[in-house]
Amino acid sequence: MDHTEWDVVIVGGGSAGLSAALMLGRSRRRVLVVDGGEPRNRFASHMHGVLSRDHSSPLELLAAGRAELTRYADVAVESATVTSAASVEGRSSFEVELDSGERHLARRMLVATGLRDELPDIPGLAEQWGRNAALCPYCDGWEVRDRRIAVIATEAANAHQAQLMRQLSPQVTFYTQGVRLPDPARTGLEARGIAIESRTVVEVVGDAEGGLRGVRLDDDTEHPADSIFVAPRPVPNDGLLLELGARTMRQNGVDWVLVDPSGRTNVPGVWAAGNITTAQSSVPVAMAAGSLAGAAINADLVEEDIRRAVAATG
Ligand SMILES: Cc1cc2nc3c(=O)[nH]c(=O)nc-3n(C[C@H](O)[C@H](O)[C@H](O)COP(=O)(O)OP(=O)(O)OC[C@H]3O[C@@H](n4cnc5c(N)ncnc54)[C@H](O)[C@@H]3O)c2cc1C
Repeated sequence: MDHTEWDVVIVGGGSAGLSAALMLGRSRRRVLVVDGGEPRNRFASHMHGVLSRDHSSPLELLAAGRAELTRYADVAVESATVTSAASVEGRSSFEVELDSGERHLARRMLVATGLRDELPDIPGLAEQWGRNAALCPYCDGWEVRDRRIAVIATEAANAHQAQLMRQLSPQVTFYTQGVRLPDPARTGLEARGIAIESRTVVEVVGDAEGGLRGVRLDDDTEHPADSIFVAPRPVPNDGLLLELGARTMRQNGVDWVLVDPSGRTNVPGVWAAGNITTAQSSVPVAMAAGSLAGAAINADLVEEDIRRAVAATG
């Protein structure tokens, strides 16, 4: 495909970006998806809670999504990274530059670049991430039902994560990591038989096969665990949006780009969808956000096409 000028450039080809591309491709829009190939759930071999895809590979889902897009001749997907984005004057509103040095113009932009999970600094945890250490009880809890669960706190709100896991297993230990628990949270944990451990986890201990053995505490004792749940700090991949002037709002200590229900930001012509706008976005939620944004962008382009057509007749 030899277009250098697109209706829409979508940065990020995860669940959100590809869903938007599908809507736009079906609207006969010329769309370039640029994807760095590092979806948030790439550490997991299986994903769950995704209707018709429960317990399937997240990377296979994205490969299938890319394959579906080949039906639409005006959609191109390029494996690359967008390194900068700027507003420009003229028929197109934006120019993006790729790490290859390629430049592309587009009338609209969707940024669906997801987020990075910043894990607490506990040796051994990163090696288990996505396999025996997880974040979301709905995504990975059922697989470890009735097993020994270690919930490692990063903040008091993680008591809720422990309570969700208690729904799945009677063997839950909540490691406070020095976080002060409000009395109602402590009472609730105790009432449901969740062990509260105030000694600090200093290491996640794996076995020789790469499995999980347990956690080591600051008194050098080792405690067995079959699965770890932890809440990493979400870091939105929002550099391009901030460069374009997107406004953010602080929520739970994280600055999230502000969007309306369709994903529209305060920057004219720029949308955002998926995990870049909220940590709560699972795969189906990211798909829905991308789908909504794709339709909204097409509607916005139709409005512009009407204005141009009317001006041309006058
Ligand atoms: C360990 C783990 C397990 C999970 N399991 C589940 C599960 O079982 N079920 C579920 O529903 N959800 C699960 N999730 C959540 C799921 O990962 C997210 O909901 C989903 O990935 C969000 O989709 P997204 O399109 O917003 O972002 P992503 O899937 O993260 O996609 C963003 C894409 O943008 C690309 N990108 C970033 N910056 C650039 C750039 N500058 N240029 C080009 N490309 C760029 C990235 O490389 C990436 O491919 C899990 C998450 C984790 C961490």
